Amino acid sequence: MYDYLVVGSGLYGAIFAHEAKAHGKSVLVVDKRPNIAGNIYTENIEGINVHKYGAHIFHTNNKKVWNYITQFAEFNRFTNSPVANYKGELYSLPFNMYTFNKMWGVVTPEEAAAKIEEQRKEIIGEPQNLEEQAISLVGRDIYEKLIKGYTEKQWGRDCKELPSFIIKRLPVRLTFDNNYFNALYQGIPVGSYTKMIANLLDGIEVRLNTDYLENKAELDALADKVVYTGPIDAYFDYKLGTLEYRSVRFEMETLDKPNFQGNAAVNYTDRETPWTRIIEHKWFEFGKDENGNDLPKTIISREYSSEWKPGDEPYYPVNDAKNVLLYSEYKKLADAEHNVIFGGRLGEYKYYDMDQVIAAVLDKCEIEFAGAIV
Ligand code: FAD
Ligand code: UDP
Repeated sequence: MYDYLVVGSGLYGAIFAHEAKAHGKSVLVVDKRPNIAGNIYTENIEGINVHKYGAHIFHTNNKKVWNYITQFAEFNRFTNSPVANYKGELYSLPFNMYTFNKMWGVVTPEEAAAKIEEQRKEIIGEPQNLEEQAISLVGRDIYEKLIKGYTEKQWGRDCKELPSFIIKRLPVRLTFDNNYFNALYQGIPVGSYTKMIANLLDGIEVRLNTDYLENKAELDALADKVVYTGPIDAYFDYKLGTLEYRSVRFEMETLDKPNFQGNAAVNYTDRETPWTRIIEHKWFEFGKDENGNDLPKTIISREYSSEWKPGDEPYYPVNDAKNVLLYSEYKKLADAEHNVIFGGRLGEYKYYDMDQVIAAVLDKCEIEFAGAIV
């Protein structure tokens, strides 16, 4: 018998399990995958830590979260500065003075602001969807070249049918700052995310290749309480309907050259290129390869966004009105399951970044274990 059965060894499950153990509780972690770490799993191939479920860059403004997670890993000083490739034209991201200079030839912040102001006039009143939001943030030219195609590939929907908040994640700056994130703390764990999760799970029993939902009765019998970080609708056997996700397919390639694109991320923002972006994994880490000489090979992943159907890996919750409503119905069912905590990106059907997952699980642990975690 265990005090807790934690379903999922991703960030949420691993932190919950760690805190449970630290508070003297017994805990068993199960994961249906053959490896720990959920979507932040990395695998070392050719000396390169490959982000198997998509590129992950840790960033946060939350000092409590930063202080917590750095107990389990040291972080390097990686700064995310993706490049946008629109039909061979390269633009700097996020939208900043380099982007505006390349797009319009403007040189000063005043000129850039005036250009955006002139273009955003076409949107009257509060933006009603992603297209209107994007145009009102950066104008039509940038929307057409750097947002429309990428967003429609990523979400498989017209920008007029998408909620505006998705695009509000992207900073717009009248400075020459290429840092994608407005975060005080940013980096990649030295030694990999997988190692960081292994540190969290140190001394905790983990059963891999174990699907909770397929062995529910047997596993439930082992513990007083369950922490479930899988998809909430799957827990209830999709009885109210299926929550929608976007999925991603990764096509990995090892290349016999030291440097493919000179940057960790290049976004392909036109509609025609089938992939959304190419990740070159070696550039997430410093020290061994800054000149491209130490490692003769490089590993890239092309990312193809795809519609999700039951059985596929769910990645991005589609938080549109229909799905938010359906989630609220599942949430009522979840609240009635008194011995189950639903957490994480899938358990709460939220577009959580890693730092938000950490904040959420720490809040939950403080309630569960009655005390502040610092
Ligand atoms: P997960 O990591 O998904 O873990 C859930 C675990 O539960 C999985 O291991 C799964 O196998 C297991 N599980 C599910 N169902 C069952 C079952 N029935 N039985 C047993 N086990 C089960 N965040 C950032 O901060 N920065 C980024 O750059 C970033 N990039 C991202 C890129 C992509 C492509 C995606 C999809 C997400 C990205 N995120 C990023 C978000 C980040 O991945 C999540 O916030 C975080 O990994 C969520 O952790 P989690 O524990 O909630 O879920
Ligand atoms: N986006 C875009 N062009 C880009 C990068 C992002 O239009 O080159 C839009 C796209 O709609 C995306 C949103 O900005 O969904 C948020 O981007 P972010 O990189 O934060 O998405 P993530 O992959 O981290 O969820």
